[in-house]
Amino acid sequence: MAAIELRSDTMTRPTPAMRRAMAAAEVGDDVFGEDPTVNRLEEMAAGLLGKEAALFVTSGTQANLVAILAHCGRGEEMILGDRAHSFFFEQGGSAAVAAVHPRTVKNLPDGTLDPAALEEAIRPENIHFPRTALICLENTHNLCGGAPLAPDYVASVAAIARRHGVRLHVDGARLFNAAVALGVPAAELAQPADSVSFCLSKGLGAPAGSLLCGERLFIARARRARKLLGGGMRQAGVLAAAGIVALEEMVERLALDHENASRLAHGLAAIEGLALDPRAVRTNIVYFDVVKPGLTAAALVAALGREGVRLLATGPRTLRAVTHYEVTARDIETALSATARILEHRGPPA
Ligand SMILES: *Cc1c(COP(=O)(O)O)cnc(C)c1O
Repeated sequence: MAAIELRSDTMTRPTPAMRRAMAAAEVGDDVFGEDPTVNRLEEMAAGLLGKEAALFVTSGTQANLVAILAHCGRGEEMILGDRAHSFFFEQGGSAAVAAVHPRTVKNLPDGTLDPAALEEAIRPENIHFPRTALICLENTHNLCGGAPLAPDYVASVAAIARRHGVRLHVDGARLFNAAVALGVPAAELAQPADSVSFCLSKGLGAPAGSLLCGERLFIARARRARKLLGGGMRQAGVLAAAGIVALEEMVERLALDHENASRLAHGLAAIEGLALDPRAVRTNIVYFDVVKPGLTAAALVAALGREGVRLLATGPRTLRAVTHYEVTARDIETALSATARILEHRGPPA
């Protein structure tokens, strides 16, 4: 029996259509700008997000770092949420590589930053201060339960940024999950921002790659930054071909992943010994807590693993499950009954 893989939507393998497109891809040297498949993917991405241009990069982490390098100078500051992926999970690349000082503002549970707190964090002109160059939002917000940020919220942050001459980058690793959950075009979520990145390699199912979108001059700087980071990939069309299929065939079906996540969340909430608010699950990420005495997240992950259900422990009592195209509604039922069985049989320690 194949495992039910709920650890991450990055576990998705390329679809048969992607494999075919990869095998047949027309390619050239992308560092010379001569890979027609990469060029087509970049045009497609820019069009979908309503931006002038786009750049195919190796990963979401590289997209964020390239954006930081293209927006900021050495010693400048960027403001981001204290639960931002960029702050938590990218090895401090802004500081380590770009010499950009990260300043955090508390993330609210819905993934937003309080606009007043954000505005207060922007530095006034003073010889002692670094200059604030960039604000980063995350949509959907991974550590805030996959929360989608609404277009009017993004626009309100963009208005603050503009008022202070600061740029706005949106880490939209799961931007299409946000668009589908909110029922708005991705371009509407991208419109207020100076740059937006999104991943092909998560729920969209492609094997690798992200896109960074923005104005033509910004993308030209980003292209230089990508080369600096070693991200010039030559015949990258074999990867871009899968990305094109991802954008053509894998976006609308994300609604199914959101339904499955919601079903999972409601089922978990009904199991005694687990705690979560299923109404907070808007996209494909479900976080929940183990509150049964004597049971840890790691022990529950191990027990589920023996039943062929793979989840991630993200804290001593917290677990994460992420739905994607390789997880069916029936898999959700299987995962729920396995979880219920384990919690029933697992008493407090003797
Ligand atoms: C996954 C993720 C990234 C990084 O993407 P990689 O391709 O894993 O480097 C960045 N931001 C968010 C919000 C993510 O979820």
